[in-house]
Amino acid sequence: APEQSGLPQRPAVPGAYSAETARQDFPILHRTVNGRPLVWLDNGATTQKPRQVIEALGAYYSAANSNIHRGAHTMAREATEAYEAGRAAVARFLGAPTPDSIVFVRGTTEAVNLVAQSWGRDNLGPGDDILVPVLEHHSNIVPWQMIAKETRARVVPVPLTPEGEIDRFAYADLLSSRTQLVALSHASNVLGTVPPVKEMTALAHRYGAKVLVDGAQAVAHFPVDVMDLDADFYAFSGHKLFAPTGIGALYAKPEVLAGMRPWQGGGNMIDSVAFGLTTFAPVPHRMEAGTGDIGGVIGLLAALDWLGSFDRDAVTAYEEGLMAYAQQALATVPGLELVGAAPERIAVLTFTLAGQDPAGVADWLDRDGIAIRAGHHCAQPALAHYGLESAARASLALYNTSEEVDQLVASLRQLQMASG
Ligand code: PLP
Repeated sequence: APEQSGLPQRPAVPGAYSAETARQDFPILHRTVNGRPLVWLDNGATTQKPRQVIEALGAYYSAANSNIHRGAHTMAREATEAYEAGRAAVARFLGAPTPDSIVFVRGTTEAVNLVAQSWGRDNLGPGDDILVPVLEHHSNIVPWQMIAKETRARVVPVPLTPEGEIDRFAYADLLSSRTQLVALSHASNVLGTVPPVKEMTALAHRYGAKVLVDGAQAVAHFPVDVMDLDADFYAFSGHKLFAPTGIGALYAKPEVLAGMRPWQGGGNMIDSVAFGLTTFAPVPHRMEAGTGDIGGVIGLLAALDWLGSFDRDAVTAYEEGLMAYAQQALATVPGLELVGAAPERIAVLTFTLAGQDPAGVADWLDRDGIAIRAGHHCAQPALAHYGLESAARASLALYNTSEEVDQLVASLRQLQMASG
């Protein structure tokens, strides 16, 4: 039964981390693109998958595929056990108090929409404020605008400093007894900023507000402890964490989740159905209508097992070193300007290149097999803060190396030379 990923795990060795060893687990990192070895620097969009995840998916679909929570047969029981083992693994990964505080969703976007449609509908009303920092991803802005319109609440932007940090004085000023919710990311996908979420949460709680943390960009870069943060909600996407697309998780404090109404109806989420009266299952199942992404949960479990085989502090230290190196190396490219300068940040390097359109930069790099992203990064207000509509972004993961950074820099230098 695929209760675990079914593959032997490396024991975590404290203090030791080798990106070269980690790379061996990623078949895709050994392909070529446009005749050049792939340099994957688009990890903010999605991460690549280790063979442990790919093999766990293959093993599940080859030998263990079944629906869950229904049908009294061996494989249904096995699939149910694996699915619930995934829930328990996510709870451990986030430091959540119980697996029942974890709801499986498609990803961060769906998690935020779930909270907006379920919690928001019952807890927001005319005159209420939802504070949203200007650096948020659109998926942590638009669902709030939609529910605010329906409930006649307001979405209030929290301004940024020139460095791209949340202006903490403005934040303190904006908080009031009207504030029902603060929705902020644990790491920005465009500026890399890591705000002081724990302190901001404590301040919001003084006003009785709830706090939703978008962990989409955080979870792959540093360990998270939702109890320590005291977050009311925490969301992430599996695909940015070496797991498949289509699976993610929402943590909600047990006492908050218990009071939340279902946001979608259907199978799996009911206790009993009659045309006279339908009653709902307890949480978290009440929030998971229909057949979920069972294979995705198996893949997520394998990804968490894989990540758990490393000393996470050693990984974070490695990424910090690589980021410092990349910042210095990019500074040598003529006309390159990094966007945002928050001291606390993840390995995201958003930049502009004098005389070049960001899409053209991405095209040029692609010819050298280097994948970055160009555009607004689903964070238009954050870019507008710098007077930009578009920028190029290289985002690093634990398997990237200083040699790959050198290739990025060399290709950018050649572009500048070719353009005279
Ligand atoms: N929040 C942040 C900070 C992100 O970077 C992203 C994805 O880019 C999302 C939310 C949305 O994640 P998904 O598209 O997986 O739902």
